[in-house]
Amino acid sequence: MKLWVDGALRDEADARFSVLDHGLTVGDGVFETVKAVRGETFALTLHLERLTRSARGLGLPDPDHDEIRRACAAVLEANPMELGRLRITYTGGVSPLGSERGDARPGLVVALGATGRRPDSTAVITVPWTRNERGALVGLKTTSYAENVVALARARAAGASEALFPNTRDRLCEGTGSNVFVVLDGRIHTPPVSSGCLAGITRALAVEWTGAEETDLPMDVLEQADEIFLTSTLRDVQAVHRVDGRELPGAPGPVTAKAMRVFEERAAADADPRL
Ligand code: PLP
Repeated sequence: MKLWVDGALRDEADARFSVLDHGLTVGDGVFETVKAVRGETFALTLHLERLTRSARGLGLPDPDHDEIRRACAAVLEANPMELGRLRITYTGGVSPLGSERGDARPGLVVALGATGRRPDSTAVITVPWTRNERGALVGLKTTSYAENVVALARARAAGASEALFPNTRDRLCEGTGSNVFVVLDGRIHTPPVSSGCLAGITRALAVEWTGAEETDLPMDVLEQADEIFLTSTLRDVQAVHRVDGRELPGAPGPVTAKAMRVFEERAAADADPRL
């Protein structure tokens, strides 16, 4: 595997990243996962824009979009694969232990992993832990992901692929790495960004392309919804067939199936959509 580290394409074995990088020691970093189909990225511009928003939220200098575009192209060319996930990581850079970040030069890594096509439907659980919609990191895609790792482990142990969080007001928020949509009386709803969820790129495109409404939703909407689906870069639109103990037979239901179709068609027609 070849990846981009410190300004150049390198063999993984020769790629060096300091153990004193602030991203590693305190999670002071931001990232993006970008889907790549046969060497072509999807929605790279929207991902770069969010990377910049996240970096600014942490007080990091703006990432160099031109370098990242070159890095993505070089990594994709060096590692041909059918369906890949590009991981762009941008960190606080090397700082002495225990210190603030100081004026360290940020670190940039662009790596690529293969990924499979997601199944059409999946099981999810809810977790008792909350997303803090008033937290300092809300809306930022940072490398401080341990909370999601813990929740995802609980989901896996329950035979599910995703865990859904309430926020501190017990309203529906999001999954560990996905946004959530529900269908009520034929209409599609998703929690607003003010719920504390990440402004998912797939979420935004799905809202635009399906006319979904942003609605503040109670957690028990998951017991009443006719259909539920998730969105994320690697899932696209994916139906939910079980939430906790509740089965949703026939998932994807008609509204979700249509959303999946619309998303697939629109994404195939434009690899770099803007909002
Ligand atoms: N919410 C969280 C916490 C995420 O980490 C992600 C993506 O990784 C999403 C939602 C979905 O966002 P996107 O559609 O941009 O992949």
